[in-house]
Amino acid sequence: MHNRRNFLKLSAGAAIGGLTAAMPASAQQRQCNEINWDESVDVLVVGSGFAGLSAAINAKRQQVGSVLVLEKMQVIGGNSAINGGWLAIPKNPIQLAQGINDDSPEELVNDQIISGRGMQNVEMLKVIADRALDSYDLCIETGVKFREGFNIQVGGHNKARAIRTQHGTGGDITTKLFEAGKKEGVEYRLQHYIEDFIMDGQEIVGVKVRKNYRFPDLNTGKTIYIKANKAVILAHGGFAQNMKLREAVDPSLDPTLDCTNAHGATGEVTLTAMANGALPVHMNLIQTGHWGSPDEGGFGWSNALLSIGWHQGAAISVLNGKRFMDERADRKTCSEAIMKNRYADNSPAYPIVLFNYENYAEDDRVVRSLRDKMAWKLDTLDDVAKQFNIPAAELKKTIKEYNQHVTDRKDPLFNRKMDTAEVLTGPFVVSRIWPKVHYCMGGLKTDLGGRVIDGRTMEPIRKMYAIGEATGGIHGEARLSSTSCLECLAMGIIVSETIKSDL
Ligand SMILES: Cc1cc2nc3c(=O)[nH]c(=O)nc-3n(C[C@H](O)[C@H](O)[C@H](O)COP(=O)(O)OP(=O)(O)OC[C@H]3O[C@@H](n4cnc5c(N)ncnc54)[C@H](O)[C@@H]3O)c2cc1C
Repeated sequence: MHNRRNFLKLSAGAAIGGLTAAMPASAQQRQCNEINWDESVDVLVVGSGFAGLSAAINAKRQQVGSVLVLEKMQVIGGNSAINGGWLAIPKNPIQLAQGINDDSPEELVNDQIISGRGMQNVEMLKVIADRALDSYDLCIETGVKFREGFNIQVGGHNKARAIRTQHGTGGDITTKLFEAGKKEGVEYRLQHYIEDFIMDGQEIVGVKVRKNYRFPDLNTGKTIYIKANKAVILAHGGFAQNMKLREAVDPSLDPTLDCTNAHGATGEVTLTAMANGALPVHMNLIQTGHWGSPDEGGFGWSNALLSIGWHQGAAISVLNGKRFMDERADRKTCSEAIMKNRYADNSPAYPIVLFNYENYAEDDRVVRSLRDKMAWKLDTLDDVAKQFNIPAAELKKTIKEYNQHVTDRKDPLFNRKMDTAEVLTGPFVVSRIWPKVHYCMGGLKTDLGGRVIDGRTMEPIRKMYAIGEATGGIHGEARLSSTSCLECLAMGIIVSETIKSDL
């Protein structure tokens, strides 16, 4: 007897064994037809982060039919809602008002090529950068507010092109995209967990969902089947919170490394797509945020605090009191340099970052960090040396030399850009640093339009699309800061156009 359970068993087993393509189409067709669909929709979006929300509203605008967004958590937004709200947009209006008019999508891509270290997908980066202004416009016309006059140069970028949302969080974007989508007819459902795909050969026809699911208990909720007539867009984010998966693909990321991500970033939909033939790329390329603090959990304040520290201050090894890196290099370069600081037993020797307190005494980033005891105000270098057990004489020598480099506006040790560096006189703000697992460069391989590629045929899986952090291979070895938000918004626009053209 072909009941749902029998069909699904057969589907998953056949797909994992690579037998799906060999199954007679008629047999598969008959079994798909035996699903008792609970409902149907034209475009089904998995996940409610930047990527899913952008895709949903843009699909609606493309008039491809009904659009339903399913989110497993109790709130929308995933990593996007807790993100720092930084968005890299070449030629944004604030940048132009600052008199920077020699930036371009090509310049951004050039920076990304350096950061990607030869592993990036240049064509994809170009396609995304070309839609940067469209992505910015999407934000503005849905009501997102950015900080007035604020556009700065962040790590690894050769120009000031990063704007920031009003409250310094991606939630400023997710809420507006959600509200606008709702007005335009997108339907959203929370606590709907995608458990499995229903395939018809190399075509996705629907999904198996746990409705009223309560994260993380898979025994909660009730199974329903939703048919997707025209497209399933996988926008389920990365897998940085899946400790077993991340350690399986990169054993250096042991559980002692904390994670900045939302709890739902567990990647099960990526694994389900792989079981149905989707090609994974660069799964072992996982970015660590070099601005993590061991003195707080998750993302915390450290990233914000160090947006002062990297520019105005210096990073020092507690082992020998010396600088050890270009504080303004990209995340990968800095993370690797930081993680070399270890005691003989291999445990972390957390380096410190220090900068002058005076100019930032009232700054929110400093006030909050001192309050929450993940940074300290210390008056002299002797105090710093004592608190962090650093050789005092070496520390003083290092800072004396460093101050000379600041005055000379030249860093002969690490070739750091010194235009924003300040002579360090104290009192100091001092915090400890250790990288945290932050972003998955790896995920599902797609073509330039967001169609998921089947690794067995190297052809798109019909009606299956993927965008955002769920995808892989775009950024190469290291993603530049503030470019994921751009990628997600832009690919949401692009995939909606692809779906329209595929109909
Ligand atoms: C703390 C932090 C700060 C960051 N700051 C920045 C920044 O300032 N600028 C920048 O460009 N990038 C930043 N990033 C990176 C960026 O935020 C993410 O890469 C981006 O938000 C990913 O968006 P997404 O839509 O692909 O996935 P997400 O926003 O993670 O959304 C995916 C959603 O899918 C849901 N989901 C997953 N599995 C299922 C399932 N089985 N069923 C149903 N739903 C499911 C998840 O619950 C989640 O809500 C930051 C990341 C973090 C963690």
